[in-house]
Amino acid sequence: MKRYTSMKVGGPVKYLVYPHDEEDLLRVIRMLGDKGMTYRFLGNGTNVIVNDRGLNEAVVRTTRIKRARYTKTGDDVSVEVSGGTSLKAFIRDTAGRGLSGLERLFWIPGTVGGGIKMNAGSFGSWISGPLESVCLAGSNGETTSITKNDMGFGYRTSRVRPGECVVSALFRLSYRNKDEILRDMDYVYGQRKARHPMEYPSAGSVFKGVDGEPAWKFIEKAGLKGIKIGGAMVSEKHANFIVNSGTATAGEVKLLIDKIKREVFEKTGASLNEEVELWGFNG
Ligand SMILES: Cc1cc2nc3c(=O)[nH]c(=O)nc-3n(C[C@H](O)[C@H](O)[C@H](O)COP(=O)(O)OP(=O)(O)OC[C@H]3O[C@@H](n4cnc5c(N)ncnc54)[C@H](O)[C@@H]3O)c2cc1C
Repeated sequence: MKRYTSMKVGGPVKYLVYPHDEEDLLRVIRMLGDKGMTYRFLGNGTNVIVNDRGLNEAVVRTTRIKRARYTKTGDDVSVEVSGGTSLKAFIRDTAGRGLSGLERLFWIPGTVGGGIKMNAGSFGSWISGPLESVCLAGSNGETTSITKNDMGFGYRTSRVRPGECVVSALFRLSYRNKDEILRDMDYVYGQRKARHPMEYPSAGSVFKGVDGEPAWKFIEKAGLKGIKIGGAMVSEKHANFIVNSGTATAGEVKLLIDKIKREVFEKTGASLNEEVELWGFNG
């Protein structure tokens, strides 16, 4: 999974499956269910850390499924987009059409499906903002349309459970001056470049904020910026990023996560919870 996750760590999985369209995806889900195999969905792998031993499971990677259908709806435009579509590419496309609603999420490196599962957000915007509904497949391969209000969105959370797949999503976007949209995207990119250690592999923010305060404040307060375990390092640029300085293993990343949680609690009293998902670390 080193090759398929942005942290660039992790061992092999039993099967890596690439459905080539939405129908194929549903067939794969039914087939895995019939065979009684455990499986997970993977988008761009930018929010997961997989154990060095790997997983005795199938991983269904959605990234070959890219479809977007634009329909005029009154003064706005409805866009139905596949869950496997890269968020960055999707936002570039909508911006190019002068459509606004997602531009402040520009450069989040995940897919639409991963973004919806995590309710990805940045610079005061959330993917759930302009969302109307989600086509969700259950573990029997049957699909249901779920409206935004029933998606259970919260801070980095949604009702999407393991085994359920975001097949596609329907967004409602409005027209805005294209130059203004592009200016927002440039601003967002500039801020990310200045604040995030983009030069190293990482999984983005490791911990969720605590009571509205960003996690990096607690990590800095505990004096942990720059500490290393093997090749895993707390970024000097942004304390809520663990970066792979070149040779990190998933085990080292996990040890560093545990150390940060322990020391932040001892020194500040704050309990940090992971925003990243750890796959295969139990038992
Ligand atoms: C440099 C960097 C910066 C980042 N900045 C931000 C940021 O500003 N804001 C933010 O919110 N996040 C940020 N992230 C984290 C990450 O990009 C987001 O959480 C993103 O939405 C994850 O999408 P993904 O496709 O990579 O999901 P993955 O990492 O592949 O998967 C994450 C979870 O979603 C599930 N999943 C993936 N696809 C589907 C699907 N189609 N259906 C159902 N479940 C699915 C997986 O099973 C897993 O549970 C950043 C990450 C990096 C590396």
